Amino acid sequence: MPVEKYLGVPLHRPKVAFFEFTACEGCQLQILNNEATLLDFLSLLEVVTFREAMKERSDDYEIAFVEGSITRADEARRLKVIRSKAKILVAMGSCACFGGVNQLKNRFNNLAWVKEQVYGTFPIETEEARPLEDVVPVDLKIYGCPVKKEEVEKIVTNLVLGKSVNHPKYPVCMECMANDNICLYKLGEPCLGPVTRAGCDAWCPGSRRGCWGCRGPADAANVDQIISIMDEHKFSAETIIDRLECFGGFREFAEALKKKTATSKTKKKRAGK
Ligand code: SF4
Ligand code: SF4
Ligand code: SF4
Repeated sequence: MPVEKYLGVPLHRPKVAFFEFTACEGCQLQILNNEATLLDFLSLLEVVTFREAMKERSDDYEIAFVEGSITRADEARRLKVIRSKAKILVAMGSCACFGGVNQLKNRFNNLAWVKEQVYGTFPIETEEARPLEDVVPVDLKIYGCPVKKEEVEKIVTNLVLGKSVNHPKYPVCMECMANDNICLYKLGEPCLGPVTRAGCDAWCPGSRRGCWGCRGPADAANVDQIISIMDEHKFSAETIIDRLECFGGFREFAEALKKKTATSKTKKKRAGK
């Protein structure tokens, strides 16, 4: 049932299209999974392209929701075309926002070796995984791996009503403490909750799993401090680096820690320790 008015104000149903690049398509699936509210959600929009859900296609859209990272030259070209048609381009999920788990291959600094390990001699084109904003301007990001459907619905409703979209500035810890969870550091598990942007309702700590930082850094996150805390809890540099580099949002901190660790190893080796 189409929504025509909200509080007496006529609503414009924007034409939207969903696209995917290098991704597992889990973010799009999150939207389709929400059966309880899916019809209400779709009544706010005119979906013209959504490969995972319908066979119709159209190049006439105002908002493009784009999932996935860019790992090939043809993907970069296709993304530029989408950008040229969309008034608003939304990066949806960690792959689109930061490169996501796909960017883990970048850490080997040797793509030929990575290709050989994964595909053997099968000819395949692949480049370093990049977030969308490395290729085109992005208007809005929806964080998470996967995105949280309730958050997508809230953001889309705000867009349709012409309201601004505000992400939580505070970290996951705030939601975790509000939920009265036991802090995982007390159970011997590392967690990036103190520095990761909230909005997931502390999804992982609520299931007794430390946060891996899929939503990227919170505003004014003191990442150096959490690295010191993990170090004090005797987590190895490798464990900390693994966690920081998993989704790409903390890439610069992971890189800095890697350099620091390599320098300290070299110094110890020279000193014969
Ligand atoms: S962000 Fe996560 S769930 Fe979404 S497409 Fe990437 S890997 Fe899949
Ligand atoms: S479990 Fe993680 S998110 Fe929860 S309070 Fe501890 S550090 Fe913060
Ligand atoms: S707890 Fe951390 S890793 Fe888990 S969903 Fe939230 S931000 Fe992502």
